Amino acid sequence: MSGQPTPTPSMEVAQPLAVQPDYPSLWGQSTSTQEVPYHRGPVLQSSRIYAIYWGDQTAFPTDLYAGMDDFFTGFGSSTYANILDEYLPAPAVSQFYGSDVVDNSTVPTRALSRGKVAKEICTYIKSGDLPLDPIDKKNNDGGVYFLFTSTFPTNRVNYCAWHSHASCEGKSIAIAYIPNVSSTTLCDPGDMYQTSTYTYGTRLYGTVVAHELAETITDPKLNAWHDRHGSEVGDKCAWEFQSPVTLTNNVAWQLQEEWSDLGNTCMQQQSTP
Ligand SMILES: [Zn+2]
Repeated sequence: MSGQPTPTPSMEVAQPLAVQPDYPSLWGQSTSTQEVPYHRGPVLQSSRIYAIYWGDQTAFPTDLYAGMDDFFTGFGSSTYANILDEYLPAPAVSQFYGSDVVDNSTVPTRALSRGKVAKEICTYIKSGDLPLDPIDKKNNDGGVYFLFTSTFPTNRVNYCAWHSHASCEGKSIAIAYIPNVSSTTLCDPGDMYQTSTYTYGTRLYGTVVAHELAETITDPKLNAWHDRHGSEVGDKCAWEFQSPVTLTNNVAWQLQEEWSDLGNTCMQQQSTP
């Protein structure tokens, strides 16, 4: 024993911040050779998902809450969420908050502005029904607040849903607006795989919600990962499908592909890094 050199504690030396993760990743890279460079803003490597259902609840598919709870529960660490890992400082983790908020008051029939969506969400944070879970730039984590409305805009819109960020209680939160995509033909890509026993109306939400969640994780403040036209990882592969995706709780969905900059292609899923 004596005479043995003391091991040098080199492993305990703090790594420089710019070090690359030990899985295939573009984290921190913003070179011009990439189609989707990093613009230095925060990401949501770790996220928690909250859902509010606003409006005439009978206008939603009857199994929507169950379907979305299943989707959000199975999303984290799925082969689908793994596509996003290359944009993050560590593989994506995502949890569902576990309960939903229902607001039976009348929802406008016209498209909601960012301010209106933020106000509705912030109401339930202020009341304590939902926690305040802001975008944490230092730790790259935070909440994603989904607002589902029973109406689809009666005025012309060029989206099925959108995500953004807004201020609530002086903090910046990630928000997503999901109009009733089951009440319009505009957001229906066709039933390609008959993935589950959920009604088709509920299954239609899968790809729309996946698009917004993937983009919120990789670009919550619209200043992290997007191309020079502002297109984010979901936009670049909108309405492109290869195969059904089974999430971690064994429910399958028809989900659009997401952009992989490492692969320079749209991807349907990615095995664990
Ligand atoms: Zn998008």
